[in-house]
Amino acid sequence: QALTYIASNLYTLTFKSFASTKNYIAQQQFSVLYNYQHKFFQTMSVKDIYRQIFEYIKENIPFDRMMLLALDRQDNLPAHKEREGRVVCVDGIDSEQFSGKKFTLSDKGLAVLALLKNRPVERVFSSSMNQYVPRIDSKEKYNMDFRQLFVMPVATENNAEQAELAICLESRTPGRYTEHEMELLKAFAGVAGFAYARACQFEQGKDLASRDGLTGLINHRTLHETLRTEKVRANRQQYNIGVLMMDIDHFKNVNDTYGHPIGDVVIKGIAGAISGEIRKDIDIVARYGGEEFVVGLVETTAEGMIETAERIRKAVQKLVFDVKQADPLRVTVSIGAFLVTPEFHDMKKAVNNADQALYRAKEGGRNQVIRFEEESPDVAAPAT
Ligand code: GH3
Ligand code: MG
Ligand code: MG
Repeated sequence: QALTYIASNLYTLTFKSFASTKNYIAQQQFSVLYNYQHKFFQTMSVKDIYRQIFEYIKENIPFDRMMLLALDRQDNLPAHKEREGRVVCVDGIDSEQFSGKKFTLSDKGLAVLALLKNRPVERVFSSSMNQYVPRIDSKEKYNMDFRQLFVMPVATENNAEQAELAICLESRTPGRYTEHEMELLKAFAGVAGFAYARACQFEQGKDLASRDGLTGLINHRTLHETLRTEKVRANRQQYNIGVLMMDIDHFKNVNDTYGHPIGDVVIKGIAGAISGEIRKDIDIVARYGGEEFVVGLVETTAEGMIETAERIRKAVQKLVFDVKQADPLRVTVSIGAFLVTPEFHDMKKAVNNADQALYRAKEGGRNQVIRFEEESPDVAAPAT
């Protein structure tokens, strides 16, 4: 389907460019577009697609300001919630005020309109005009210098009601965007849309396979992959990784007394409490088993690791679960900790060591943090 679409677009363009207009510039632009298709289909990352769209525009189409708008992806959005989006790239006049700007589909700006309707929008502003037309919303800074605006929506399906991306080009020169340029951009948007859909699907699939459905944390398998990757970086920069293994205390009682669904609520609550005590996007947290979690503290010290573990332990202790009974439900966790220094290389063993410490924490009465202590050195004694 993608190839047929591309082929028909290319045919139309070739025909227009070479047969009817004999336009040499068009011919060049056309070959650039062709090269971009190659680039597009070599990437699976949504961010790379944004970057490539931006690059293409920058190199091939003149503008005084260019913005790329993207709707947030719908993966987990409740059906009734209105879709929101952000400006993911911007360059040119007053770009700071638009960088990362959020919007919803009910905002009335021209760029949002193109997204909402999946329709190109073109406007010519005369110099005598004294009313500003918002690009995103009425809160933006009014700039009356622009004379032409062109917004090309990028949709991920043929005949989609809404587009997922929109490329907004503005110029202070009237009549800057020719029909040929708009056609070219339309063909480019078609290709970009397919590549974008593919990258979104890929990223979503990757996410589903690597995350646990109840808590949204990464799973057992992904944890080991992630720890390995982090270890490579840690070795390069010579820092430690703290590994915490934790297990809910007397969790069988919770299930037996309140039922499995409440047990699940508790697991979810604890996952949230752990995530709240670590550095988002830096540290690692995984649901390791049913009611076991592993945390990887990136770039830490022995003291820092124990401090964080204690914070987590206390945060869990503070949680109250309303179980519609006289007393709310409270739970605790036991935590085993092991510090991976640059000399220590086996991350599986690191998790095992943390697990051994956890076992001691359970033996010692639960609701506590115990650090792994080496009984016999890990490295073989030198031969005598
Ligand atoms: P301990 O303090 O020694 O850890 O006691 P415990 O009762 O928590 O013992 P253990 O860790 O062996 O218990 C695991 C229990 O967790 C058994 C199982 O019923 C429950 N469990 C495991 N996964 C889930 C889950 O996904 N949801 C619910 N509700 N319960 C789970
Ligand atoms: Mg357990
Ligand atoms: Mg347990």
